[in-house]
Order: sequence, then structure tokens, then C-alpha cells
Amino acid sequence: MPRIIVQKFGGTSVGDTSRIRRAAARAVAAQKAGMQVVMVVSARGKKTDELVRLAGEFDIDPPARELDMLLATGEQESVALMAMAIREAGAEAVSLTGGQIGISTDDTYGKARIRAIKTDRLKEHLDAGRIVVAAGFQGVSESGDITTLGRGGSDLTAAALAAVLGAERCEIYTDVPGVFTVDPRIEPSARKLDCIGYDEMLELASLGAGVMHSRSIEFAGKYGVPVVVRSSLTDEPGTLIARAGSVPSRPVTGLALVRDAARVTLAGLPDRPGVMAEIFRRMADRAIPLDMVVQDLSVAGIAEVSFTVPQEDLAGALAAAKVAVDELDGAEVTVGTDLAKISAVGAGMPDRPGVAAKMFRTLAGIDCNVVLVTTSEIKVSCLIARDRADEAIRAVHAAFALDREESAGAGRDGNEPLSPAEQRVRTVVEGLQGMEDIVVADVSLDTDQARLSVRPVPDRPGVLADLFEAVAGGPDDDPSTGATVDMIVQNVSHAGHAAISFTVPASEAELAAQLAGAPAATWGEGEVQTDPHVAKLSVSGVGLRSHTGVGLKLFAALAEAQVNVQLIGTSEMRVSVVVAANEGERAVEAVREAFGIA
Ligand code: ASP
Ligand code: MG
Repeated sequence: MPRIIVQKFGGTSVGDTSRIRRAAARAVAAQKAGMQVVMVVSARGKKTDELVRLAGEFDIDPPARELDMLLATGEQESVALMAMAIREAGAEAVSLTGGQIGISTDDTYGKARIRAIKTDRLKEHLDAGRIVVAAGFQGVSESGDITTLGRGGSDLTAAALAAVLGAERCEIYTDVPGVFTVDPRIEPSARKLDCIGYDEMLELASLGAGVMHSRSIEFAGKYGVPVVVRSSLTDEPGTLIARAGSVPSRPVTGLALVRDAARVTLAGLPDRPGVMAEIFRRMADRAIPLDMVVQDLSVAGIAEVSFTVPQEDLAGALAAAKVAVDELDGAEVTVGTDLAKISAVGAGMPDRPGVAAKMFRTLAGIDCNVVLVTTSEIKVSCLIARDRADEAIRAVHAAFALDREESAGAGRDGNEPLSPAEQRVRTVVEGLQGMEDIVVADVSLDTDQARLSVRPVPDRPGVLADLFEAVAGGPDDDPSTGATVDMIVQNVSHAGHAAISFTVPASEAELAAQLAGAPAATWGEGEVQTDPHVAKLSVSGVGLRSHTGVGLKLFAALAEAQVNVQLIGTSEMRVSVVVAANEGERAVEAVREAFGIA
């Protein structure tokens, strides 16, 4: 089997002739090193934006077919120039459009889905010793029209070709040296990561956003294509994105910040199935992009839910919320503005009970109050005042020593043995087709959890830290003495009082209740309430963020099945709900059916 490598060059990496030569030299070097090389190239510089603008001169809403015809020329220009540059460098090359590569798509112009990839022609060229220069972002529909795959689509072309060809790796050349522990503009000691897991990368969406298309990362993850993100301007090795097993499992890998958050809270809600679905319907009607969603345990039949939305969507979210509460007696809406979300992500989090506690302690240490908390298995997010955000990021970065070199972890080889070639092409293409319709990649149920709620707790810095340090068995997160906290939910406070709920494995319920009891006792009325058996249902996938209808679909399915929701928490990649233990199976069936997942 020949060794194949896919090298993708983004717009800035082919911006001018010297950069094109540099990119060509990389491909030639890889070929000299014994690899078969497929380059995937984007349009030069801001070419695509320019073409979109130009089209707008004639028609503010240009016909989609013509727009695709136009946009595809950007990539066609790049591949031809690249092939010439490669010949100039003394190697053989052939440029191919999407159609010539053999990428067939459906006919949804502007965001076409790949239907089939024929690799014969590609392979012939490779076997004949040519470097194949493939146009990213485009394909051909059944009727023979040129289509494009959506902005940033060259990443998807690269990941898909790497998957169908069984490439050893897919290199993404861009204008940054790799993925950093945090945005270096906020914390100058941010360190470039040698490697990161697919899920970590996806949860750090705001760090990854400028680097690589989320959907392509999800896709690469699904097929185990090792991806290397690196600079086209230097020879630094970049960052490997690979399977969790082949990258070190750190408690915290990186931090992300969303600076423009606003909060909308709906309080005084009746605690029964269907209410959440109604609220999500109002939000979806107005296409409000919800970020954090938090619902804590109801009190005396009254529930409360909080969302965060981008500040610019606050007016719309507020209007939607008002419509929803109008239909519910006694419900009311409150808002909070000038907020920011700070998140810590690490695949090793589940094995280190103290991570959340340490983050809370650090925020308390700078006297920063936490408004909302949500978590996923590998992420903790806190909503805080925006004017404390930079300081908070720096403090947390330092607390987890993210500026320091990681100790040597697992190897850098994320490769998996390949399935037979044809099977591979088929499954890869099926995966691609699913990418746009299936916004949810997975629905899972954990029936082995217990829920603990502590209330009321004072609303001041340090409370979360005290509670979760105690539950973790002390500030030094010794896994042998503490309980393993899974989901954490803190909703907004009222009159200086907040409530905090969390889940632990059912077998650790008593231990956790005991450990939580100590700090709770110091908070006057503070009381710990335990439900020794609950079920946690999670839906995950990158589509959650881009499709406002996912929440609606989820809660409508639960309402239909008459399942009441006790807690809600979200992350970039995941929505989790806690329901009564005996309703778990019914809930998961209804939700799987709603999302068409077997
Ligand atoms: N040129 C296209 C765009 O700018 C595709 C890409 O760069 O991936 O969106
Ligand atoms: Mg681009």
C-alpha cells in the first residue's frame, strides 16, 4: 500500500506567488520523502469574499446556481497556479476540479452534500507519480452543475479525501502555528499544544474556529483521520488532532472565552412536561442561537430556566421569552447583560474529581462571582461579569499551569488500521451525506447516576469552590477520597441565594451527600437533598450550535413521551438532561426516534 498524505492550503497560504511556491515546495518534499501527495487548495486570499461582493453588484440575492459557478472559479485559479508551481519545482502535477476529482454532490447550491467520491482517477494520477492538486470546496451535481460545499468547505474536501484514500494524515496549512491553550492575545504565555483530541477541539470551538471548520473535525474524528494543523510559513510541527487514546489525557487542555454573552431567565414556570418544549419553540421560531442552557431542580412545583445568547440577539430572545411566559401563569422574565463565558476543556477531567473545584477556587481567589455553571464530561463553563473575563482567563490558565510544557504523553501516531478500500469509500460517503441532516451525532443514556441538590447557598465567590472541593475530597483532588462529579448545574441567584445541583455515580451518592453536608452546614439553612437514582440523557454533535431547532426537537420529544425534565446543562457539543430513573428508557427511545438515530 502506498503511503498517502493530504495537504490542505487555506486562502492565506496561497495568497501570492511566493506563498504558492512555498506550498508547492512542501508537497514536493513530501513526495521526495516517499509519499503520494494530494493537495487540496482554497481560493487565494479573500478571493471568495470578493466574488460574493461582486455578485452582489448585480443582484442582492444572486441565483444560487450562478453564485456557485462563480465561487468555484476561486479554487480553479489556485489549483492551476499550484500545479504550475510544482512543475517549476521539478515535479509532476495535475490540477483537478471537484468534478474531475470525482466528487458528486446533490444540487443544494451553496451548501451541497457529497453523494459519492470516485477515487479511480485520483489514484491513477498518484500511481503515475503525479502530485494531485484538488480544488477544495466544490463538486458537481447529478445534473452536471458545479456546486459548492459551504464556506470553509475546503477543510471538508481535505478531510473527506483523506478518509476515502486512507491517508496517513491530513495536514491543514494555515496562518497560525497550531492550536493554543488559550487565545494568545488574552494570555501571552499561552502555549501551542502538540496534540489534542477531536472532542476537546470541538468543545474548544472558539479556539478552533479560525483554525478549522468544526464539521470537518467531527468528520475526521468519525473516521479517525489524524489531522495536523500547522503554519504554512514556518517549519514548526503544528498540533495533531487525533483520537483520545493517542493523545495525553490532561485534566485541562485549553481554555475558551465567549465575551459577548447575555442571560435570559424564565422563572416561575410550572414543572411539567411540555413547558420547555414551548419555550424552545419560541426561541427556534426566531432562530435565536442559544449557548448555555441551565435548569436546576424545581422547588415546590416551580421551575426556572436560564439561557445565554450573544448580546446582539438579546432583544429577540427577550421577545421570544415574553411570548412564552405570557401563556404561563405567574411566570416572569429577567435578564443579565455584559457577561462572558469562560470554559476549561480536558479529556482527562472525568478522572480528576478536583478540576471543577479548582476552577471555582481560582475564580473565588480573584473575587469573581459565578452567575451560571454548566458542564459536560470534558468541560466546565462559568458565566461571569465581562469586565472580569481577561483576568479570569489568566488566573485559570496559571492555576492549571497551562503555560508549562506538558510531560511526554502518548505517541503522536493517531493511525488506525484501514478497512478494505471499497468499504471505506462507501462508509465515508455515507458519513458525509449525514453531515448536514444529522445535526445530532449521538444520543446516550446513563441510568447509573444520583442527583444531589444543595440549597439555598449564599451567592458569593467561594461557595462553589468550598462545595466542590469538599465533594472532591479536598483541594488536592485525590480520587481515592472524593466522589466523581459528573454534571454540575447552577442557575441564577435570587435575593442573594442560589442553588447548585450535580450528579455523581449512584454508588457514590451517600459519600457525596456526606461530603457536601459539611460546607452546606456552614451556610445557615443550606441543605443537601439526594435522589439516589436518576437517569442522564445526552445528545451530542456539532449541529447543536448551528441548528436552533435541536433544543425544540429534544424537548418536544420528551414532552410527547410525558417525561419531566429535572436538570438541564449544555456545552458546545452536548445537551444533557436529568430525568427520573424509571423514565430514562422511555426518554431515550423518544429522543432517538425524533433524531432518527438507531
Ligand atoms: N474559498 C472558500 C471559502 O472561502 C472555501 C474555503 O476556503 O475553504 O469559504
Ligand atoms: Mg477559507
